[in-house]
Amino acid sequence: MKAFAYFRAENAVDATKLMNQHHGKYIAGGSNLLDLMKLHLEIPEVLIDISRLPLNDVEETSEGGLKIGAMVLNSELAAHPLVRLRYGVLSRALLAGASGQLRNMATTGGNILQRTRCSYFYAPDSACNKRIKGSGCPALHGLNRMHAILGGSAACIAQHPSDMAVAFMALDAVVVTLCLDGSSRQIPLDDFYRLPGLDPQQETVLQFGELIIHIILPPPPMGIHQYYKVRDRASYAFALVSIASIIDIDDRRIRAIRLAFGGIGTIPWRNKQVEEFLVSAPPCYPIFAQAADILLSGAKGAGENDFKIELTRRLLISTLQKAVSGDHS
Ligand SMILES: Cc1cc2nc3c(=O)[nH]c(=O)nc-3n(C[C@H](O)[C@H](O)[C@H](O)COP(=O)(O)OP(=O)(O)OC[C@H]3O[C@@H](n4cnc5c(N)ncnc54)[C@H](O)[C@@H]3O)c2cc1C
Repeated sequence: MKAFAYFRAENAVDATKLMNQHHGKYIAGGSNLLDLMKLHLEIPEVLIDISRLPLNDVEETSEGGLKIGAMVLNSELAAHPLVRLRYGVLSRALLAGASGQLRNMATTGGNILQRTRCSYFYAPDSACNKRIKGSGCPALHGLNRMHAILGGSAACIAQHPSDMAVAFMALDAVVVTLCLDGSSRQIPLDDFYRLPGLDPQQETVLQFGELIIHIILPPPPMGIHQYYKVRDRASYAFALVSIASIIDIDDRRIRAIRLAFGGIGTIPWRNKQVEEFLVSAPPCYPIFAQAADILLSGAKGAGENDFKIELTRRLLISTLQKAVSGDHS
């Protein structure tokens, strides 16, 4: 790891001032950034430690939603009584991520900004358009078992790795930021991530130095909250395919539904056409199969990851069937 200067920020304004002065990199839990620094994939000359910012509360909003500080740890958020009671999909997604030790370090802001786990991205000697624009994407014809089947481009098919962001996507989360000029922005998570296109280095709409300070969740949607994650090991493994679903259902029809997917997209994946198709439809296999067709109509495998198309179809159908049968295990 290369030497760097280190500053600890006391509050959000202080952090952005330090960023304005030093043009460094924020570090929160460090569980992703330090790995990238050890591999020289990130070489910041200045680290601005934001882990002590007073942004570690989960508060109820006046609208009945939640305001989550960017420094709230993944373990604290998963265990928070309001999250467990009202946002089960979020608690389940968090507990499906990483390991207990990592969740004790990882922060809310850092989690949604973690980088892909594409093996070529992590191999300094390999070409990678995400690291060096125009250098190529060996994953397109190489080791791509973990890679995305939706949202990819000729430049990049790296999958987005976060579990929490998938639940946030289903919950219509809004990212609140503080910009370097002192202004604040509220960015719906739907608009937060950028598809790779020809410029996969740009992963979000954040500007340089923009600090995430909160995540706002609207009031919890009614219905059954589920998060299922298919992976190579039962724990401590990234998703091959995951699904966050919130379903309000009776015997005759689906009253309301939210669905988001992990492991299959270059960004946490939500396709509202699938939800629109399902709302008011009878909860039965042919309808679920048609929903899977809509979700996967643009899906494209690159060889080793072709199986994800069928796996996603099965996971979506079985999740909906479990909601109908009352099996939420
Ligand atoms: C072995 C291993 C297994 C894992 N398994 C999973 C898994 O199954 N599921 C999963 O979801 N994750 C998994 N993770 C990833 C882990 O969840 C992330 O590393 C973690 O959430 C990142 O949070 P952090 O606070 O440590 O971020 P950091 O490493 O501190 O920061 C990450 C990035 O975000 C930026 N940043 C951080 N906070 C802010 C902010 N408030 N505003 C602006 N920029 C900010 C930093 O500058 C940096 O670029 C795994 C990690 C490891 C090492």
